[in-house]
Amino acid sequence: MSTKGIKEIILKGFGASPGICIGRAYLLDKADIEVVSKYHISKEGVKNEKNRFKTAVKNAKDELSIIIKDFTKEFRQYASILESHILLLNDKTLHGKTIEFIEVEHINAEWALKKVVIDIKAKFQNMQDGYLKERYADIVHVADRIMINLVGVKDVNIKGIEKNVVLVSHDLSPAQTSQIDMEKIMGIVTDRGSMTSHTSIIAKSIGIPGVFGVENSTIMIKEGDLLILDGSTGLVIINPSEKTVVDYEDKKNKYEKQKAALIKYKDITSETTDKVHIMVLGNIELPEEAVTVLNCGGDGIGLYRTEFQYLGRNFFPSEQELFSHYKEVIEKMFPKYVTIRTLDINGDKAISRTTHPIEPNPALGLRAIRYCLKRTDVFMTQLRAILRAAVFGNVRILFPLICDYTEILEAKRFLYKAANSLDIEGIPYKRDIEIGIMIEVPSAVIMADIMAEQVDFFSIGTNDLIQYSLAIDRNNQQVAHLYNQFHPAIIRMIKHVADVGKKKGIKVFMCGEMAGDPMNTPILLGIGLDELSMNPQSIPNIKRMIRALNADEARIFVAELLKKKTSAEVKDAVLDSYGKIIKKYI
Ligand code: PEP
Ligand code: MG
Repeated sequence: MSTKGIKEIILKGFGASPGICIGRAYLLDKADIEVVSKYHISKEGVKNEKNRFKTAVKNAKDELSIIIKDFTKEFRQYASILESHILLLNDKTLHGKTIEFIEVEHINAEWALKKVVIDIKAKFQNMQDGYLKERYADIVHVADRIMINLVGVKDVNIKGIEKNVVLVSHDLSPAQTSQIDMEKIMGIVTDRGSMTSHTSIIAKSIGIPGVFGVENSTIMIKEGDLLILDGSTGLVIINPSEKTVVDYEDKKNKYEKQKAALIKYKDITSETTDKVHIMVLGNIELPEEAVTVLNCGGDGIGLYRTEFQYLGRNFFPSEQELFSHYKEVIEKMFPKYVTIRTLDINGDKAISRTTHPIEPNPALGLRAIRYCLKRTDVFMTQLRAILRAAVFGNVRILFPLICDYTEILEAKRFLYKAANSLDIEGIPYKRDIEIGIMIEVPSAVIMADIMAEQVDFFSIGTNDLIQYSLAIDRNNQQVAHLYNQFHPAIIRMIKHVADVGKKKGIKVFMCGEMAGDPMNTPILLGIGLDELSMNPQSIPNIKRMIRALNADEARIFVAELLKKKTSAEVKDAVLDSYGKIIKKYI
């Protein structure tokens, strides 16, 4: 399988999803589309360059026409959106100006197109009108399609990939990742991304090795290159030698054997040596993953990220569609709990550009509960579906990104409104349903005592709590090294929330990535959390880890930990006291 005579190249990124794979590279897109270079065209070459641009436009147009033609009946109503894109391809500003730049400035087509889009952006940027902003989004969409044709990269539908390959991409959206077919895609390498991005979370959930934040991977790796990907260490090896392939085949076998062996621990109870029982649950993104949670021994679903049913499409799911997804999960998990989080859309899980304007700073934008309280029609549809599905088992409802007390009141008001509307229509639904909020921004931590009065439980979302407390974009590989779960401020915040929960008599859970890392288990145990929810693959290990610990000792350990001044001190303390145990479960 190795590539004789070609030099082996090792690239380093973040181990975003553990596991090893060996396979041929499939380049999904290239950084080139964003980092196009400028070059001068001779006077004689201008005509050629204009033709190159026109061909790219024609190809883009053909692609759109094929998509429209292939639309099934249910999608046909959206054909008009793509038809408007076809018209935009010949738009005077986009098409005419690009040709003009090539002619007048003697520059390459990619650069001319990029320049036109920048000019258009400047004009649209300050517009308040949502409709016009959406038109800008359409122009970008169309320009991207032309650019893809110009630089000659594939704009593929991931679902349609037929061979066993390692995906190499500049970036991969959570929507694209959720389309991955495990039978076809062996692993993922991206230029961008970080360990707590949603793309990484999904890769872990479906059990595909991933290395993210490998700068220039899309430039260094060529289509068809043999690759070794080690998602545990964050290494990508291009054109490995025969010896390296043999070594990694061995490592891969060992890893897979270990993983398979873990499953035998799935049914053990997660009880400490001093008999403190902590529930270990799974996080899911898609209904099909519920079975993985059960297979891994999960005590329920601590976080159902429902937004994935809204991504990668130009319209919202109907109440009936949502209801049947939720019902499927709830019935499968019965009598275990399913914690359904209401739509946490946008941020890095942007819905289609055609249904939402571009935001300058999406992480601080119209995301999650903010979006739902604005698009109350979308919110009500989901709430009605949850209440109806709850009849079929045990459900809790969880509101994301709560920053303000009034957001809880408003969210609950809509929940009651949804219940009333079902009452009026005589549709069966579950009335008594536990309501919780995600604690994932500092204002919710500080206001936890007040917020506790309105809810039945808290669930700490450390992925965002770290992002918003330490001012670290969780998707930005440039600052990924600063994203630190051991920061004393984070440990103190978690402790504060747990203490408030105890005082107010409500349960406190954790569903952020911290919960699934054995390094944190002694801390979370000592802090006194009631439940931990994580990517399903981590469940057996965390259960074993809990069984190796003593809750009383962990409490004493945490009391000392709270005095630490730096992340390094916290990490060292964990390793000093628990390093030997952790090593067994990592
Ligand atoms: C979190 O922020 O920790 C969390 C669990 O939510 P998400 O990762 O979906 O933002
Ligand atoms: Mg979150």
